[in-house]
Amino acid sequence: MIMQTEMLYMRDCYLREFEARVLQRGEDGGRHFVVLDKTAFYPLGGGQSSDTGTLNGIRVTSVQKDAGVVKHFTEAPVHETLVKGAIDWDKRHTFMCMHTAQHLLSAIVLDLWGSSTAGNQIELDYSRIDFNPLTPPTDFIDILTTKFNKAVDDALPVKIYFTARDEVLKSVDERRRRLFARLPESVKEVRIVEIEGADKVPCGGTHVANTAEIGHIRITKVDNKGKDTIRVRFELEKTRAD
Ligand SMILES: [Zn+2]
Repeated sequence: MIMQTEMLYMRDCYLREFEARVLQRGEDGGRHFVVLDKTAFYPLGGGQSSDTGTLNGIRVTSVQKDAGVVKHFTEAPVHETLVKGAIDWDKRHTFMCMHTAQHLLSAIVLDLWGSSTAGNQIELDYSRIDFNPLTPPTDFIDILTTKFNKAVDDALPVKIYFTARDEVLKSVDERRRRLFARLPESVKEVRIVEIEGADKVPCGGTHVANTAEIGHIRITKVDNKGKDTIRVRFELEKTRAD
């Protein structure tokens, strides 16, 4: 049996509902799971939690890749062979805003100060990015926030597409070329996330279609983590608790 799941969000991040066929069902550590032929659920990974939602009305609590197999963990067993899936859209859309915000912040820091993104964590209420090496200037937060919010006001289109690896290597600047060069040789077609006029990087995540959807951000913390690593924590103005 082929256990490959087609990841529908790779081509359409705005797909909230879908129909799929169950390829396998089982239990893993006392939890029920199903493997589907296709899914709109984003699995845990890339510094981001998985989507939640429902399959035929049954709650999907998490989605995880296990040795290449995408398991949808559910609160109760799914008995049907054909399922209707629905993802929790508000949560997913916040993740899309956060992840696109991360790309934009990383792009600004790379272009202004030449610092690379060493890691990131995408959450619903706040997210963080580690930059290395970076010695932030005194007005770091102001410069970064102003430049970010300007890009939001400019409503830059965000495009996702697949391109031959060799083609993209020719079209990006030296700093970004390293990100593409890091991909395994076996990857011939690269999924590109491009913020028009601001950034072009390889990514398998979910993103909004325009920077205007993110809204303004607030940088709430800048921590020195040692070894020239700076951790930046940010929130979306629209989802702030206060
Ligand atoms: Zn990404």
